Amino acid sequence: MVRIQHAFCDLDDTHLHFMAGHRPAIAFLAKEVGQKFANAFDATYQVLHLGGQAQDGDWSMVPGGQEAYEQLRKKLQLTKIGSRSFPWSRELAALHAAQVVDMQLHPREAVEIAAKYWAILSSNITLYPDALRFLGRLKAEGVQNHISTGSDSSLRWAENGWVYDPKLAKKIKMFRVRVLDEFGFSPASVTTGDPIDKPDKAFYEQVMLNACIETDLTTIDPATCITVGDSFRGDVAMPMQCLGIPQGYWLQRGQPRRQLTENIHLIGSLDEIPLE
Ligand SMILES: [Mg+2]
Repeated sequence: MVRIQHAFCDLDDTHLHFMAGHRPAIAFLAKEVGQKFANAFDATYQVLHLGGQAQDGDWSMVPGGQEAYEQLRKKLQLTKIGSRSFPWSRELAALHAAQVVDMQLHPREAVEIAAKYWAILSSNITLYPDALRFLGRLKAEGVQNHISTGSDSSLRWAENGWVYDPKLAKKIKMFRVRVLDEFGFSPASVTTGDPIDKPDKAFYEQVMLNACIETDLTTIDPATCITVGDSFRGDVAMPMQCLGIPQGYWLQRGQPRRQLTENIHLIGSLDEIPLE
């Protein structure tokens, strides 16, 4: 059997306990902007987040089901810059929430709200206990950890409308990656979905290129890699297909482990990934 040398891992909900940061950020918005607004902002996020996961199967967890998810995405996709849409933009979520509760909100205020949301979230987010153990095992086994994480779709407002600046968006996202540093686990490379995002093939090619650059290798044999994350398509199926990685682990915390295909395993905890 080939020894595993590289792990391509998702960040949010794989390493990081996203809700541990999201909840205090929502509580802050309730205090600063109002409870109704905070509820609508939270609901916008929940439908998008759970809807994104439901595409892997079950829609019963999504408030309003598939219809609510499709409608919301359609609404937010009205704000397109070039061919790109920004479903994860908290700036757009703030505008949408204001509309739902019939509150006047200038896009500039939406930008301020989003900035505060991310600041509170980033300072409260934590590592899952199994992620902490997994990072320790990667280190002990000499397996390089490469983070591949989607864009936060951060936008800013200019005179003429919304502007997407990939460098700024990446900078905001990197605050969250630094949580790993705080625990002493600096990843070998980090790829964020700015400007090209999951599940675009070019995103995964960039992940591999960044992995080579950061580890000073001309090539990495995909047979020595695994891919890990909580999104079946974005973190497992697509990187396996695009990079030729033979082993994928789809993380669904709390679920019993089962083998989905010859090469894809559903795991309930990162502890279940064999590295030796
Ligand atoms: Mg994730």
